Amino acid sequence: MALRKIVVQGDECLTKKCRVVTDFNARLHTLLDDMAETLVDSGGVGLAAPQVGVLRRVCVVMNDDDEIIELINPEIIATEGEQTGLEGCLSVPGKYGVVTRPYIVRVRAQDRNGDYFEVEDEGLTARCFCHEIEHLDGHLFVEHTDHLLSGEELEEFLRQQEEEDE
Ligand code: ZN
Repeated sequence: MALRKIVVQGDECLTKKCRVVTDFNARLHTLLDDMAETLVDSGGVGLAAPQVGVLRRVCVVMNDDDEIIELINPEIIATEGEQTGLEGCLSVPGKYGVVTRPYIVRVRAQDRNGDYFEVEDEGLTARCFCHEIEHLDGHLFVEHTDHLLSGEELEEFLRQQEEEDE
């Protein structure tokens, strides 16, 4: 396994529509292993192949149990509810925006052997499914917000959230 370099906003890989995976071969498995290692190393919760310069419909998402879900050719097949919260991206370092997403998201995808499966989750993991799958069509979360938070605004936002939680 090896760490891959994460490209940042401005790189054309992040604006391209990714191609469907048709070969579930060793090359794909290496990509998935590398993406998982890169995700853990970066401290993020999700990573899409275009973020490491590979224009294929592949992403990895870490759920609340710290399990890595590998999604190949994923499609969102059902959503429920709504959540509004802070969102960031490893390819947009240091910037955060408030983005509204569905609260529950169900995804149909293929695993690394090409077998179809469905996975459903809520909260942050559901948000992550939406965020990563969007990457595969060349979209970034910044398109959902007209205002990215500065460091100061982020602190204020987190302080407010803490107060609400008390
Ligand atoms: Zn992202």
